[in-house]
Amino acid sequence: MPAGLQEKTNLLGLDRAGLERFFADLGEKPFRARQLLQWIHQRGVTDFDAMTDLSLALRQRLEAVAQVEAPRVMGEQLSDDGTIKWLMSVPGGNAVEAVFIPEASRGTLCISSQIGCMLNCTFCSTATQGFNRNLAAGEIIGQVWRAVARIRELHGENRRVTNVVFMGMGEPMLNLGAVRPALSLLRDDLAYGLAARRVTISTAGVIPGIDDMADGEEFALAVSLHAAENELRSRLVPLNRKYPVETLIEACKRFVRARSRRSVTFEYTMIAGVNDQPEHARALVRRLSCLPCKINLIPFNAFPGTPFRCSSDEAIYEFQKITRAAGLITTVRKTRGEDIDAACGQLVGKLLTPSQRRQLVQQQLASQAIAS
Ligand code: SAH
Repeated sequence: MPAGLQEKTNLLGLDRAGLERFFADLGEKPFRARQLLQWIHQRGVTDFDAMTDLSLALRQRLEAVAQVEAPRVMGEQLSDDGTIKWLMSVPGGNAVEAVFIPEASRGTLCISSQIGCMLNCTFCSTATQGFNRNLAAGEIIGQVWRAVARIRELHGENRRVTNVVFMGMGEPMLNLGAVRPALSLLRDDLAYGLAARRVTISTAGVIPGIDDMADGEEFALAVSLHAAENELRSRLVPLNRKYPVETLIEACKRFVRARSRRSVTFEYTMIAGVNDQPEHARALVRRLSCLPCKINLIPFNAFPGTPFRCSSDEAIYEFQKITRAAGLITTVRKTRGEDIDAACGQLVGKLLTPSQRRQLVQQQLASQAIAS
């Protein structure tokens, strides 16, 4: 790296505690953290010069050692149903996807926590691209920051991000170092101020992560179950060989006990002839009978190369009927954004083609030239 181009701290990824440490290191008062949070996350300002309640000297100091850098939007697709999917570039010539799903009473943003995924679930298209790397906290919260700004541009105050789900690419519980500060920013009143029930972290069943997250910032836990018996679940979610269903359910119970009054949502992708039969529903009922929980059935979304098909409406209805009859709250997720490949399990973040990569590098060089 040429002299004078030292790595600057990306303030976007620092939560309140992180910013306080950052300012302490600069010999500044901790309340600067509060000012920065509001400038960056509430007002969307990235230019220190515009932060007018900071002294000129501090602004210049920040300019020298820090930056506010969000992933760049490389592509935007709008579905007929209003769903928006963004392809956002992150350093290293890669890209991640984030999806905004507007509904009458809420707007849900689905974000990615890793580039690719290492868990190899057999029915998920993200698995087909392999694992590239963890996203940094700034790259995770940066998806929210970008989406909020873009939605404001498109819809003014009519549409807002009211819910955030870690259900894009990657396994959030394998990237807790970055997911934790991102969660803290989502919850912080000076940043995004979302209630705990409006931030969902979804895991394929990484037990140490579930245990780790049983204290600290509150959030809603979702577990991708897809099968109640070990043999089938190990085929769909290979991680099950490491953390079998019964130990996973125990971890969920510990989580619920640590978080009084909360329940766990179990996601269950409905795959024709694989996990959607009445006996599977009954096995699920037996497995979940002693845990406060909800079941969310997700119609399987096909992607190129998959041998799986989505269950029929009748099979889904029958499955739901059995679990409901046993007293389990069971909903069926409405598939959204399918026409733009934005539905569950369809996010692949498309590793870039050589020409896209060249274009990206050029864009980055150009913006560096402007910045320096
Ligand atoms: N790794 C985390 C976060 C990804 S979440 C987890 O597994 O929970 C994405 C959700 O979509 C998970 O519940 C996942 O199992 C589900 N999913 C993956 N591929 C799918 C597909 N093709 N159709 C429907 N749902 C899918």
